Amino acid sequence: MKNEHIQRLINRATARLPSARGEAQRNAQADLEQRQAASTILNPNEVSGEYDGGRLLQTSLRGALRPITQKDLRAFQSNVTNLKKKFIGGITAQGVIDLALDADKQRANTEIRVAVPVSLRGPLVHFITNAGPDSNVTRHHVHVEFMDFEATVGASANDPKKIGKAVAQGRLRFDCDCGRHRFWFRYIATIGKYNYGRAETGYPKIRNPKLHGVACKHVLRTMHVILKDANTQAKIAQQVIKARAALDGTKLKADRTKAADVRAHAAEQQAKRKSSTNLKTTAQKQAANAARRARESMKKAAVEKAKEEAKKPSANARKIERNARTLLALGAITQEQFNDIMKNAK
Ligand SMILES: [Zn+2]
Repeated sequence: MKNEHIQRLINRATARLPSARGEAQRNAQADLEQRQAASTILNPNEVSGEYDGGRLLQTSLRGALRPITQKDLRAFQSNVTNLKKKFIGGITAQGVIDLALDADKQRANTEIRVAVPVSLRGPLVHFITNAGPDSNVTRHHVHVEFMDFEATVGASANDPKKIGKAVAQGRLRFDCDCGRHRFWFRYIATIGKYNYGRAETGYPKIRNPKLHGVACKHVLRTMHVILKDANTQAKIAQQVIKARAALDGTKLKADRTKAADVRAHAAEQQAKRKSSTNLKTTAQKQAANAARRARESMKKAAVEKAKEEAKKPSANARKIERNARTLLALGAITQEQFNDIMKNAK
């Protein structure tokens, strides 16, 4: 996508910021009402066997849409069991990036450039991101709750950088107001116990019957920012320091970021935008580190070899020495002359 196009998306996302909080609340309310009115939800008791075939609910498991069978329900149950095993111990920002689908990571890299905290209250951070190029909204709201916040409040580190990093690398819960999160991933987040906001208990039998993936492009960009953005980590650290002083993090008042600061932060993220701000999985980080170490050790070996070479007389010098020794042995030159030749040969 062209930069001016991206810039337009970012400008739209960061316009009318005072309405961001109300907008997020209205979206959550509309989502809840839509869910309450839905009549084709496959409920947990039905997944576990109490399903009445007369409901004629459909699934896309194995391709085309068709009515759900008992065999499907058994497949759903086993998908849920596997999912629960996968998320024992919660999820971290890096874990979200590691488990995300390639398609979602690709979209996060190309379409979603900024994720900026607009409000923080203790462990809870409200981020806004730009919307994608085909979206009919101006921005998305991603809420993140840091689960290890309280532990960090009680910890001894006083360096804001260390505090920010510790919280950012810890476990978290999240939510996004986009359709991809609501209809594909919120159920997975609920089963995995890392959903923030309302739970989703209806199996995604049509959109995501195999329960693949973990997060939308907005959440993925936000996770990258949590892990890498010093400005965001500093804001998180400030909340820890405030909570230490207040002794009760739940009584903190929300810190709203000034509109001008939100825009400056977004501009800073956009300016830094290059391939190094692409999402990186643990495997990619490890591969990059291994490649760097290999380059460093090759460089070191080359330097050592050059040093060794420098100590040795060069091939040419050895040839001169051989000839000079012959001349010396023949008495054609004196020892003094030999010494002179060797001094110049090196
Ligand atoms: Zn989203």
